[in-house]
Amino acid sequence: MEKLHYSRVLLKLSGEALAGEQQFGIEPKAIGTFCREIADVASLGVQIALVIGGGNIFRGMAASEQGMDRAQGDYMGMLATVMNALAVQDALEKLGCDTRVMTAFTMKEVAEPYIRRRAERHLERGRVVICAAGTGNPYFTTDTAAALRASELKCEAILKATKVDGVYDKDPKKHADAKRYDTVTYMETLEKRLGVMDATAISLARDNSLPIIVFNLFKEGNIRRVILGEKIGTIVEG
Ligand code: UDP
Repeated sequence: MEKLHYSRVLLKLSGEALAGEQQFGIEPKAIGTFCREIADVASLGVQIALVIGGGNIFRGMAASEQGMDRAQGDYMGMLATVMNALAVQDALEKLGCDTRVMTAFTMKEVAEPYIRRRAERHLERGRVVICAAGTGNPYFTTDTAAALRASELKCEAILKATKVDGVYDKDPKKHADAKRYDTVTYMETLEKRLGVMDATAISLARDNSLPIIVFNLFKEGNIRRVILGEKIGTIVEG
């Protein structure tokens, strides 16, 4: 039996992870790939809560830039996260992984309402809890929802899955000399605008001493590596 470094984590997946090769929407093949990894680590006995973004379908901010009321757009964005959550649930259950989708506002015909104590019970019973609809409030992001759920569910870390290998001092796609941080403090990410998560999410993580591990979702085995305590990506803490 492999020794687990974490027993309960929150994995934050951006909507773009579900779009695969496409720029938009949901590509079932792409979901299958990372869901196999999630099912694999869940079978090791790690308790996993997921927070899923919606940017592959709708973002309130982008809609408001085109004239839509911001709050209206944000509710649409939160609904997009529910679609993503149902897609991930489908893929995980097909792999034999027990899951529950829990929404921040009630949609009880499609999913359970998010109730903290019930979510904890699901985690204790080995179910992957998929938290949908963000925080349930406009003007927030799913990164903030991730920091919130991780705090209240007493997760040991936020695993922020991205397209790159960690946090860099500048954009590695534009600058060949960009340096990756092994560790960086919450304050540095804010002061240097390193773009790990938005400021609200970082502040919440900092207030609750929750480390954020930024790593590449698209390298096979990376979720397992993080769970087993291998030093990959960047840890935001301190
Ligand atoms: N959203 C919101 N409140 C929340 C979480 C999300 O209003 O608590 C809306 C917001 O419009 C956001 C969209 O849902 O743009 C999708 O979430 P996000 O942009 O965080 O998704 P990601 O970038 O992770 O795919």
